[in-house]
Amino acid sequence: MEHIEFDDNLFDERLAGEKNDTPAIQEAVLRILQAVGENPERDGLKRTPERVARMYAELLSGYHTDPNAVVNDAIFEVKYDEMVIVRDVEFYSLCEHHLLPFMGRVHVAYIPDGKVLGLSKIPRIVDLFARRLQVQERMTRQIADLIRDLLHPQGVAVVVEGLHMCMMMRGVQKHNARMTTSAMHGAFRANLATRQEFLENIGRGASPLQI
Ligand SMILES: [Zn+2]
Repeated sequence: MEHIEFDDNLFDERLAGEKNDTPAIQEAVLRILQAVGENPERDGLKRTPERVARMYAELLSGYHTDPNAVVNDAIFEVKYDEMVIVRDVEFYSLCEHHLLPFMGRVHVAYIPDGKVLGLSKIPRIVDLFARRLQVQERMTRQIADLIRDLLHPQGVAVVVEGLHMCMMMRGVQKHNARMTTSAMHGAFRANLATRQEFLENIGRGASPLQI
């Protein structure tokens, strides 16, 4: 059990750009600018529709990413049945209710049953689901379900801590802006001590989530 950090990036701009309807996004952004009373021709805004379309290609690339391609050949047969924990995986997503960011960290644990996943693949799986329009609860479950389906482990657990801009920026229910969600399968659901070991590990030494 150790704390591992990653810096690799799943995003392939060329691939994502091909699959989005870029002109339609640009047109829509232009209309928003007009609708709020702005002048889309002024210098600062001139290229904004184009920039936003490119940004969405990146932030929503998860729709066009094949989970099998993400995992590729990185499933290994091993005789190891201790808990594997990957902690503090950063994520950035967009809430599907407001199209505003929510962000934070994901903690993943699983207990292998003959198969393990290359460690760099966990952040890629997180990105696969974070880079879509999301709600945190569903994202949490999707990460857990995919790892379960790929590895058929004895158990898998995912905890996500997120800060939600739609809560913070809009000034409503600020106390709810920080949200923790979890999804547990197998041993983590059935066995309190297993669950506890994971939760204690991710709680240890972690600084509070903040911007
Ligand atoms: Zn929202």
